[in-house]
Amino acid sequence: MNTLDDKTIVRDYFNATGFERWQRIYGDGEVNKVQLDIRNGHQQTVDTVISWLKEDDNLTGLSICDAGCGVGSLSIPLAEAGANIFATDISEKMVEEATERAKNIQNKTANVNFSVQDLEKLSGSYHTVICLDVLIHYPQDKAAQMISHLASLAESRLILSFAPKTLCLTLLKKIGELFPGPSKTTRAYQHREADIITILADNGFSVERNAMTSTRFYYSRLLEAIRK
Ligand code: SAM
Repeated sequence: MNTLDDKTIVRDYFNATGFERWQRIYGDGEVNKVQLDIRNGHQQTVDTVISWLKEDDNLTGLSICDAGCGVGSLSIPLAEAGANIFATDISEKMVEEATERAKNIQNKTANVNFSVQDLEKLSGSYHTVICLDVLIHYPQDKAAQMISHLASLAESRLILSFAPKTLCLTLLKKIGELFPGPSKTTRAYQHREADIITILADNGFSVERNAMTSTRFYYSRLLEAIRK
């Protein structure tokens, strides 16, 4: 499978069954146990990013690009906290849902802009670029290209999360405990943390803060990298 196929598959998935599945997981309605576990895990990742950004005490007016924003789980609270958010996603359905969810936040949507775009086609310059739980959909070589492109858009900081490739998780994945469910039709790629750090370093970034979220079915390594 080549990388163009990966991207087409991912976009089609998140415009169809993937949209149905993930907008439920990233919502507050009733879901099954596995989906609830993933919802809680993902929320921890989002909360960690928000707490890092709030700690710095400069969120008001800060320009942030949320690449692969999904339904706006991170973009909307960051906009509410006063940041200027440019949020994009390759899936039209996810962007429609994000726009709808942002409308429900009364009087606080002026500083968030959603649009449909492949993250590799993004241009411009942002203080902080964030890309959460997107690299899992791409193999190593494609992920490296994506990180390099995102790095070129980030003036100061790049925040990424990915499913870490560890022996334990590889075994779990092999026996099918991870990423379960009939509608999980995209491939899930894990990445070695050391490889991601090398790619970041090659693009002039070094890791300042890191975190790991592990629940039963959700594993995500989070890195904050700063331009050296
Ligand atoms: N970042 C969001 C979050 O954490 O709530 C969504 C994570 S979801 C697992 C992955 C998202 O990445 C999907 O909405 C998908 O459409 C988007 N995506 C995948 N490939 C992309 C690409 N090349 N450019 C932009 N978005 C992409």
